[in-house]
Amino acid sequence: MRITEVKTYVLSADLATPFAYSQGWYDRRMALIVEVVTDQGISGFGECYGPPRPNRGVVEAYAPLLIGESPFAIERHWERLYNHLRDHGRKGLAVQALSGIDIALWDLKGRALGSPIHSLMGGPLRTRVQAYATGLYRRRRDNHEAYLREEAASYAADGFTAMKLKTGWGVAEDVALTRALRDEIGPAIGLMVDANHAYDAADAIAYARAVEDLDIAWFEEPVAPEDHEGYRELKAATRIPVAGGECEFTRWGFRRFLTERLVHVLQPDTCSAGGLSECKKIADMAAAFGVRYVPHCWGTGIARAAALQLLAVLPHNPPGLCATEPLLEFDMSEHPIRDAVTTVPIVQRDGWVDVPTGPGLGIEVDRAALERFRAD
Ligand code: CA
Repeated sequence: MRITEVKTYVLSADLATPFAYSQGWYDRRMALIVEVVTDQGISGFGECYGPPRPNRGVVEAYAPLLIGESPFAIERHWERLYNHLRDHGRKGLAVQALSGIDIALWDLKGRALGSPIHSLMGGPLRTRVQAYATGLYRRRRDNHEAYLREEAASYAADGFTAMKLKTGWGVAEDVALTRALRDEIGPAIGLMVDANHAYDAADAIAYARAVEDLDIAWFEEPVAPEDHEGYRELKAATRIPVAGGECEFTRWGFRRFLTERLVHVLQPDTCSAGGLSECKKIADMAAAFGVRYVPHCWGTGIARAAALQLLAVLPHNPPGLCATEPLLEFDMSEHPIRDAVTTVPIVQRDGWVDVPTGPGLGIEVDRAALERFRAD
């Protein structure tokens, strides 16, 4: 079996209700889907996290290195592609593009062998994963507390036992909203907060100290991804667990996160940090350092399936009869493409999601939907 083509699909869909996080507004959702095609009629799909059009250019730069090759030697391909742009890449687009290709190669291999990816990677260690709801974004409305309370109540009614609030609107407002949300959902439901690096260390510490009595499960991306000293300062100043990593890449990037002990919870994105091959390595490194691993996941059903295949093989850290299990980030914000690209959507029931057991990623991509949302 030989690779004959690497296809890309830039997808776009306008949103009915624009929403914001601390770094900007979204009025549409986009995605870059990668398909690796072979001469045997079998192909595999992957997804790249990040800006689709620039990422597509990098995928196109990698593609000639794959044409004519066997799709099965995934480790060999990863090394060749990474080294192809090593002197000019190492982070960002170069690794995001590689991530989508790596996931597509794993999907292809699983399909060719009739096996889910997690079986090929030594699993499953678990067959279902508890999900937490990512939502609670800002809308173009006046009374933020009112709609955030309604939205939080809806997630609790959906069966979620944990949810994440978007912060970064200023310390005083964030403290007030966090208090309102804890009041709304009560003490039994997990509450995470995510500033998307809107703070410096001083404000992150001020906010953390003001909400320390609210049993916050983790404080995500408190400071800029480059501000390692800020991470360390916050971690030493609060008893709230600190999380981060969605803007970091590869084993080499995460080596510093681990050796410098920046976070309690590591959050690489499978579609961004290097794909399934690399994220398994990062997860094993995290286990060796005693750091929790909860993948960042904010894409279509293809990204969600990739996260689930990885979650199925994450080591218990530490193991035990009551070991802490990793969580799936379950994006509840509006995304017209997310469920449309798979023939059967990945759903949560009572806050749990089954790991797909079909070959490869365990999903079937709806090619008609790829064409419907196509923006290239
Ligand atoms: Ca985040």
